Amino acid sequence: MNGIHEAGLLCSQRLVAYIVSQELAKASSLLPSNKNRSALVHSLIGSLGLLSSPSVSNHGPGKSTSESYNNKDVLRVVRPRLASVQQLCLYHDRDYVDFILNPSNNGAKLSSQCSYFGLEDDCPPFQGMGEYVQMIAGATLSAAHVLKLNTFDVSICWDGGRHHAQKSRSARFCYVADCILAILSLKKASPLPLLNPAREKARIMYLDLDLHFSDAVSECFYKSAPCNAVSQVLTLSLHHSSPGFYPSTPLADLSDPAGPGFDPFTLSLSLKQGASSKTFERVWAIVSAVKDAYRPDYVVLQCGTDGLAGDPHGVWNWSIGEAKGDMNWCVGEVINKWDAKVLLLDGGDGGGGYDSPNAAGAGHSLLCSFFLSAL
Ligand SMILES: [Zn+2]
Repeated sequence: MNGIHEAGLLCSQRLVAYIVSQELAKASSLLPSNKNRSALVHSLIGSLGLLSSPSVSNHGPGKSTSESYNNKDVLRVVRPRLASVQQLCLYHDRDYVDFILNPSNNGAKLSSQCSYFGLEDDCPPFQGMGEYVQMIAGATLSAAHVLKLNTFDVSICWDGGRHHAQKSRSARFCYVADCILAILSLKKASPLPLLNPAREKARIMYLDLDLHFSDAVSECFYKSAPCNAVSQVLTLSLHHSSPGFYPSTPLADLSDPAGPGFDPFTLSLSLKQGASSKTFERVWAIVSAVKDAYRPDYVVLQCGTDGLAGDPHGVWNWSIGEAKGDMNWCVGEVINKWDAKVLLLDGGDGGGGYDSPNAAGAGHSLLCSFFLSAL
């Protein structure tokens, strides 16, 4: 893909935002299921020397960007800002936001109110929970924001990608629906004029490669478009689905155009146990066909790593490498070949990938694969 800049001008230099700050890594590492993983991911990526640029930019939501770039400035570190209560409430219920941000609930013993908001089992309340939620949402919103400003072609938020959190409930390690918040934000972005000159509203494609179905994201935008209209948001989830496997919902089943609940903009491709790079190579033709038909201006790519070989789930046997169908190859196809601005989430610390060294290595490997060829 070329860069797509002011007034839709195509240029050969892509500008990439990497969302990170000490505060983000610190807050993200508090997550009980992923203790210290964020710090590990960022430190591995920092070992590439990509994050030590003296010209660190700061383009949080609401801040203008006027910085100019030279040909070597492919990658920029962008420091995120905390999401505001108002921003969180663009999706979440106010009661949930108030409860989760209240410091007195941050280390709360389990109570009936905690249960009501899903704060139990794999989502226990924890010290720093409010800051964590605001920081993760703020990071992903910052990644969306710099794309909207036309400042960057690709933005990477390794700490985002929480695709199970509901309006008023935490679920499956996800306390905040940052993917949904980012999509809602991108709905207000301008379409890319050179590629889609007649389009009035931007189209956003959400592609989820995590082992688990993107239930909250898919349900949020399910049948959200008026009848016979093209939806502003298309979701396509590639995941494993079988009886008893989380999350259990009819939308996780293979989409059936003849089915009564079919929505052409809410698509599921469920893959069986043992799915490998060969499987992904085969189904990628479908993914590409969906993209070609929809022609998104923006792609939000959630690449959870819990389908990789070696992950404790042990369901898929997906390889991370560069060969056709491997994870790096799939991500590369989206970033390098699709004519859209791309928001990349979860290379090891978002919605999936519960095995820290594996997930951290995946984040590192993805970034190596992408940037070392670009720099
Ligand atoms: Zn997952």
